[in-house]
Amino acid sequence: MADCTHDCSTCASNCSSRKQGSMIKPPHARTHVRRVVAVMSGKGGVGKSLVTSLLAVRAQAYGLKTGILDADITGPSIPKAFGVHDRALAAEDGILPVGTAGGIKMISMNSLLEHEDDPVVWRGSLIAGAALQFWTDVVWGDLDLLFLDMPPGTGDVPLSVFQSVPLSGAVVVTTPQDLVGMIVKKNVRMAELLNVPVLGIAENMSYYVCPDCGKAHEIFGQSRAEELAKKYGIPATARIPIDPAYTALADAGRIEEADTDPVAEIFTRILGSREIK
Ligand code: ADP
Repeated sequence: MADCTHDCSTCASNCSSRKQGSMIKPPHARTHVRRVVAVMSGKGGVGKSLVTSLLAVRAQAYGLKTGILDADITGPSIPKAFGVHDRALAAEDGILPVGTAGGIKMISMNSLLEHEDDPVVWRGSLIAGAALQFWTDVVWGDLDLLFLDMPPGTGDVPLSVFQSVPLSGAVVVTTPQDLVGMIVKKNVRMAELLNVPVLGIAENMSYYVCPDCGKAHEIFGQSRAEELAKKYGIPATARIPIDPAYTALADAGRIEEADTDPVAEIFTRILGSREIK
């Protein structure tokens, strides 16, 4: 298998030599994904979907065949940010992802609901099952990079996704306030326990550039991204400003026009893998 890294815990290949006893689920037979990267956060609302979107947009612009699996089943915000309102179609053997204007493939609970503003009022096991089906039953085809917008936190649902999808790495998203607490540590510990390398830490809402004086203000407190990256041995950081343009573009379904420079260092680290060079 060309993509085999000889380490089943970090390899996306679905090959016959995959170690027995692993909880990793094989993808659909017509899925060939070189790398899967999970984007995680300690809680909702910190900008996990924004970071997933920016990384995917940058990857697609770089020329990589890119997908987004929106595993945030109860809070799916990816399709709206990309202005995708199409329903996913079923093929005979699986579910077909929908496409964004820029060609990114995506699947989200919102692509399956009859009305995209319907709430998903399911128990945890069903939610985890749906997230896993987005990996096992969706015909992703040939992708260089698949980003997984994880359910927030470290509970049952994120854990089961983390254990079942062959992840090459993870990116932790946080805000300056969260960094003070234990939240980042919990995400990092979960990744470590499951043998998934944390490739980057993204500090969202890190500062605000005053449009009048041009000065950067650290509204939610001093940045600790570098300090935490050092502490946990995380190789790349991103500091994403509070920028009303992000909210406006996400609300208008035009996130593909957003400035992706703040996530450049993390993207370069993801690229550092030989599988997608
Ligand atoms: P999560 O996925 O962690 O729940 P989202 O990425 O959906 O969070 O972000 C929540 C809301 O905050 C969205 O409306 C998003 O557009 C807005 N937002 C996130 N980060 C920023 C930012 N850096 N600047 C401006 N708005 C932001």
